Amino acid sequence: SDVCSSDLQLTWSAPHIGKDAPDHKEKAFKYCEGYKKFLNAGKTERECVKEAVHMLKKAGYKPFDRTASYEPGDKVYYVNRSKAIIATTFGKKPLSEGLHMNGAHIDSPRLDLKPNPLYEKEDIAYFKTHYYGGIRKYQWGTIPLAIHGVVAKKNGELTEICIGEKEDDPVLVITDLLVHLSREQLDKPARTVIEGEKLDLLIANKPLEGEEKDAVKAGVLKLLKENYNIEEEDFLSAELEIVPAGKARECGIDRSMIMAYGQDDRVCAFTSLLAMLETKDVKRTACCILVDKEEIGSVGATGMTSKFFENAVVELMDVVEGYSEVKFRRAMANSKMLSSDVSAAFDPLYAASFEKKNSAFFAHGLVFNKYTGSGGKGGSNDANAEYVAELRKIMDDNNVAFQTAELGAVDVGGGGTIAYVLARHVMNVIDSGVAVLCMHAPWEITSKVDVYEAV
Ligand code: MN
Ligand code: MN
Repeated sequence: SDVCSSDLQLTWSAPHIGKDAPDHKEKAFKYCEGYKKFLNAGKTERECVKEAVHMLKKAGYKPFDRTASYEPGDKVYYVNRSKAIIATTFGKKPLSEGLHMNGAHIDSPRLDLKPNPLYEKEDIAYFKTHYYGGIRKYQWGTIPLAIHGVVAKKNGELTEICIGEKEDDPVLVITDLLVHLSREQLDKPARTVIEGEKLDLLIANKPLEGEEKDAVKAGVLKLLKENYNIEEEDFLSAELEIVPAGKARECGIDRSMIMAYGQDDRVCAFTSLLAMLETKDVKRTACCILVDKEEIGSVGATGMTSKFFENAVVELMDVVEGYSEVKFRRAMANSKMLSSDVSAAFDPLYAASFEKKNSAFFAHGLVFNKYTGSGGKGGSNDANAEYVAELRKIMDDNNVAFQTAELGAVDVGGGGTIAYVLARHVMNVIDSGVAVLCMHAPWEITSKVDVYEAV
């Protein structure tokens, strides 16, 4: 069936996929089996890169080799510090005529262990954390949590740690005050109900026999030594991330939705990657960029503002047609990108925070945000009308359901994405992605049919 009716019509509203294209629904349910697996395999940026490499290799992609020669149709990938990745399919046209790209971020809001995390108080051992990205801190109390990450040792070894995901694994928790004693706490503003320094993880309560002082902490260190061969000092060079424990689940008694941690922005990472894998015979060189650090401003060597993307394109160009700065700049300026990031799904229970005519709705398809930003579009990439028109045509010609949205009502809040970073190269960029309910909460919700339309 046709979600994009071509009959002459003067008014427009986004189609409802369930009603207008029931055949898409079936495909969507199938796609989401893979999506759930991707979410379960990738709960940190490092795990996402690992899973992406796994998927890319299966599809015939190879690590980029600057000494190799490449033909149109060849497939390579380029990993940056285990936390960001660019996958490329070489096109028939020279790079200087522009690349076609999509990109998403694979970091999600979470809690990170501090470099010196372990302490004991009243026979309870804790890990100190520092939250990463925009979270509502009170949402992280009294839910099962898992630790994912790596410990880098002085001898060059990298120890991977994952506690809390297997059926019989223990989980960890951040405590909150019992309601009986919370009269004072309940009068506090939500942002201070659980303060940042109280986001400490309860990890142990069993004292090590024979120890007098800090015996519980000593017990934890003994376990870490036995199980992972790490010592307290090794935390100095570790990246251990605290995320909600548990798998992606189907949501709703009709199973129409997915509830999972980290769907901002792994839903766009998955759909971007899958789109890349399913694209055959590209005219222009195609790139799928999965980056880290978006949630804290796209900074750092693995964030979008680093030069790793430019470096990758320079290397690609060098190999296939010889690099020159003028050609590189032309390539950038002739490029087109879907900067894929999630949109706030309209929540009928919080309708006042949205403006209904310009909101994203579940089951209405891929969301285009012409602009994001806050306080008068501040900080946003504002996609060119001509580019939006071109995309409308592509969507309609290919029977893809799409909708357009802003991030909430004017002056209610706002947010940014990686779009502006790419737009600095004078390329056409637009924010596009999947609508998410409860964005940045420990468990976020998406609609299965939207995942399919995004691919
Ligand atoms: Mn995002
Ligand atoms: Mn976000």
